[in-house]
Amino acid sequence: MYLVDTHAHLYLKQFEQDRAAVMQRAMDKGIKEFYLPNIDSTTIEDLLQLEEDFPEACFAMMGLHPCSVKENFQAELTIVKEWLEKRPFCAVGEIGIDLHWDTTFFEQQKEAFRQQIHWAIELDVPIVIHSRKSTWEVIEILKEESHPKLRGIFHCFGGSVEEAEAIIDLGFYLGIGGVVTFKKAGLDKTLEKVDLKHLVLETDAPYLAPVPYRGKRNESAYIQYIAERISAIKGVALEQVAAITSQNAKNIFVKAQKKSHLFGEVR
Ligand SMILES: [Zn+2]
Repeated sequence: MYLVDTHAHLYLKQFEQDRAAVMQRAMDKGIKEFYLPNIDSTTIEDLLQLEEDFPEACFAMMGLHPCSVKENFQAELTIVKEWLEKRPFCAVGEIGIDLHWDTTFFEQQKEAFRQQIHWAIELDVPIVIHSRKSTWEVIEILKEESHPKLRGIFHCFGGSVEEAEAIIDLGFYLGIGGVVTFKKAGLDKTLEKVDLKHLVLETDAPYLAPVPYRGKRNESAYIQYIAERISAIKGVALEQVAAITSQNAKNIFVKAQKKSHLFGEVR
């Protein structure tokens, strides 16, 4: 089986003690590619180190997470921009809006999101979106920023059929993670009506572990439980879920991997 974890923070301190074992367990389960979203300037060094340690399997994104958008967000964005100019990245991520914890910086989150969208368009790479409690706000911005090169993934999708359709209409993919295994989440009802060709798999490790590990540290090997749940919901073989979602991930990321980098320069 060829599986892809399109969203994992495996470079974080939670994996400090046993990162090699975590990677090995994932590879033993058939996970061949890991896409690593950045958070902010404090995580870049560890992110790039992990990519360097597994150059065939790990691919770094660059971006400023909406939960890290504070008073100093312009300085943080400058660092993101410097990295995007310095070398290629598979995507700009994770970026977006989070209205769950704190809405103080909502305006700044929108500004940072738009700025990073513009860089992704210029680079011709996908964006990986964090849209907690803000799906419609994010969709609104994507409509306003509409561009043929604007594409990517709504990470950690957990919404309604209506939301899924609006996202698909924009040409974006739905990142499906541990939430699909949570009984009360209702995501199964939505996915019954969504074709596999719009889905990619993700763990968001170390967060959001699927059942039966809910509440524990998540890791990429657990993508198996997510794929199995989708297989049951859609009534198709596990191998087919793996094949289609991995192809989708390839469609999103491969072109970007071959790209040179920002503002017309060649590596
Ligand atoms: Zn994430």
